[in-house]
Amino acid sequence: MAYRDQDSIASLGVVLDGSAAPQAWVRGEEAWFLYHREVLGHLALAYDTYRLAELDRACARHLVLLLPTVPALVGDHVRTLTRWVSSGGGLIICGDPGPLAELAGAWADVTVEEGHVTCAPTGPWQPAPDVALRAFGGTTLQPSGDAATLAEWVRDPGGLGGQAGQATAVTTRAVGAGMVTTFGVDVWQTLVRIHQGWPVTGDGVPPEDGTAPVDEGILKCDDGIALSYERDRGLAPTAKAFSTPFRYETPPSGPAPMFHRPHADMWRDVFAAVLFWTMEKVGRPAGWLGYWPVGIPAVAHMSHDSDGNTDDSARAALDAFEAADVRVTWCFLHPGGYSAEIYKDVIAAGHEPALHYNAMAESDLAYWGEDYLAAQLTWVRQVTGTDSIVSNKNHYTRWEGWAEFYLWCERLGIQIDQSRGPSKQGNVGFPFGTCHVTFPMSDRAHGNRLIGVLSLPMQTQDLWLTNVIDNRAVFLDQALEHHGVAHFLFHGRNIVAHEEVRNAVLETVAEGRRRGMPWWTSAEINAWERKRRHVRIVVARSDDSLVVTACTPQPVDRASILLCVPGLNAGPTYRVVSGDGEVRAVRRHRRRFLELATDLAAGTSTYRLASE
Ligand SMILES: [Zn+2]
Repeated sequence: MAYRDQDSIASLGVVLDGSAAPQAWVRGEEAWFLYHREVLGHLALAYDTYRLAELDRACARHLVLLLPTVPALVGDHVRTLTRWVSSGGGLIICGDPGPLAELAGAWADVTVEEGHVTCAPTGPWQPAPDVALRAFGGTTLQPSGDAATLAEWVRDPGGLGGQAGQATAVTTRAVGAGMVTTFGVDVWQTLVRIHQGWPVTGDGVPPEDGTAPVDEGILKCDDGIALSYERDRGLAPTAKAFSTPFRYETPPSGPAPMFHRPHADMWRDVFAAVLFWTMEKVGRPAGWLGYWPVGIPAVAHMSHDSDGNTDDSARAALDAFEAADVRVTWCFLHPGGYSAEIYKDVIAAGHEPALHYNAMAESDLAYWGEDYLAAQLTWVRQVTGTDSIVSNKNHYTRWEGWAEFYLWCERLGIQIDQSRGPSKQGNVGFPFGTCHVTFPMSDRAHGNRLIGVLSLPMQTQDLWLTNVIDNRAVFLDQALEHHGVAHFLFHGRNIVAHEEVRNAVLETVAEGRRRGMPWWTSAEINAWERKRRHVRIVVARSDDSLVVTACTPQPVDRASILLCVPGLNAGPTYRVVSGDGEVRAVRRHRRRFLELATDLAAGTSTYRLASE
């Protein structure tokens, strides 16, 4: 919950029917729509939530309303919303419009379990995503004559082929002075399914091209990948052609297709673009806190796993990291461990001590289970002499079930987990659709609540050894484009054995820096993300100026306050006339924002911006 010291009205109102989630659970369904809290929370966009009984108040206070799912509306509600839209409100509907179909100009048609969605070349986004986006759940829409189609379902029976333009997925309709945009695609379910995959209860099904033999009998994250090996992968543009039949060798005999686009991040783009486009259209300014401090477009992260636990491998890794001038998150593996002085030297070099939870049956403590995780966490605290272990990565990216592991971490005080990544050449990149740190959602048995453990995705293990160096530019450039984190894992064992892996460490650090991406540890990413989510930004118009109010419980240096300003694209420039900050135009989520760069003190800060 964001800190606030006044009854300031957020730019966005969310209307929720309190009975919708329990009704979904009774039907045996997940209440996916509850994930809107994470999407808005990660945007650090202030919003106020209303019960259905408070609809009149929500309409009176807000120019933009979001219905994460359409509540059980009666005639009065529909009339209220219709009047409000006609008089200039911007309404965003997710799912079957139900009784709002006439207002939306869109009727639910056929239920969709999974498919792909293409976005119109011109729309709220500039540019549109360059691939069809993987989607889970929702409905096709029958638009009325005056509703415009913003995105379309690509029907792909059998998961292959299919023509775009067969069914409408997202519509928008102007109504009087206002507008209604409808997502037929279940954007919430889509995001959670891509991020968290399917429950891991057995081996995944590998692609037929032999590039990702996940069916090796070890249960791990990439057994549950929800993206499609057939539809959602591509080669690095600079790589040689893919040669078939593919020989799976280490180091690789050649390039393999990878998950080259973060589909979930692109869905966040699409949703955010619609949200801010709506705000601009109805004349409601808004502000949110940028993903990183001012001047940092994206972050790079390096982690190290201590597989093998030899002191030689640790010394080689320490040497490589020193030569690269990078501080890493060093995940320590049970059993065995290094000599005592290695732990001291790792910490003295500024690396973050972390756990590398082992569930590979390599000792009597190394099994899948909360008790084993707890025991290994106690072990790593002892060998490192530090209680403040906040990060973990699972050895071999082991995983079982769905979200249970996050619940264990939450109970044990692990605040950020970096297990969700690839284990095979053909599933590197963005197998879970994202380069952002996000809070996972629990299953319905736990109320579909957000679990207090950040997921930090991983793009690749030891470059050169496990996939071709050409892939690196894709990992970095996509993280840069989506303002996320590019995460590279290395093992000392491979650094000491292969000069090429050591070189990959040095070159990767340089390539990140060359793009303006600083190297942060997992603990630093965790602390920053948790802090930024408590900042509440409220924007109001006053004559020709904007009044920006930011409340934060902790100081935030170099804060990047991103302002959605109606008419900004038409050209007016703004200057800060009161408060200490600077403004410039930037692009985020495929739209233009005004960035107010400022140091936020704890408490409330106010700025006035005038157009010139
Ligand atoms: Zn490992």
